[in-house]
Amino acid sequence: MRFFGDYHVHSTYSDGRGTVAEMVEAGQKAGLEEIGFAEHGPRNIGCGIKSENMLLLLKEEIARVQRIYPAVKLYTAVEANVISLEGELDVSGKVIKQLDYLIAGLHPYVLPAQVRELSWVAGNTLSNFLPGQALQRRVANANTKAFVAAIYRYAPQLISHPGLRMPISLEETARACLARGTWWEINAGHRFPDYEQVSALARWGVDFLVNSDAHFPESVGALDYGAWVLEKARVPLSHVKNARS
Ligand SMILES: [Zn+2]
Ligand SMILES: [Zn+2]
Repeated sequence: MRFFGDYHVHSTYSDGRGTVAEMVEAGQKAGLEEIGFAEHGPRNIGCGIKSENMLLLLKEEIARVQRIYPAVKLYTAVEANVISLEGELDVSGKVIKQLDYLIAGLHPYVLPAQVRELSWVAGNTLSNFLPGQALQRRVANANTKAFVAAIYRYAPQLISHPGLRMPISLEETARACLARGTWWEINAGHRFPDYEQVSALARWGVDFLVNSDAHFPESVGALDYGAWVLEKARVPLSHVKNARS
């Protein structure tokens, strides 16, 4: 299994360490034909872009870099944060419309839409330190509700690292993805999800996209984990959106 594109990389526009040009240069050397920049949405504390308008500046920058690297097709996207239990994202529809595609993700350190949702955010942080099934279950229920609502509301092209540090019901989330045509990310940078989860998701017929989530030039196109886990789980190529045999 070989991958022709990496659709989730970060640049200095959010918390990445490489400029757009440096990331593209590295991706071209790694043999990629397509690269998508998906910066963190503005409400990701400490990592996000300063404001959603930065995404439009990023788009201009990418257009400039595209002229220098005509052999690699570049895309402008966002890794928007789910910020309420009703599934709201931290980027407006007006800006999303101007991007090439939308990624939605759950992240532990976000500023929620409403003050009352601080307990949801805090519950996720706490559940990483405090064992206890009741808390875990409550947190997973809230995360699933928020994620599924976002998938129905926005029909994102992809959801990033579902379940990573934010427990969810895989089955309910997968059902929403199938209903809305949303793909499931294999995040090679985090080596996530694991083989058991990929096997279950494959049985339910989910479509996958393998990304690096690179924050450094040397990680662009580092997708080997995706090939390993998908081949081990015998996922057919038709369900892997950025792979060739
Ligand atoms: Zn992420
Ligand atoms: Zn990311």
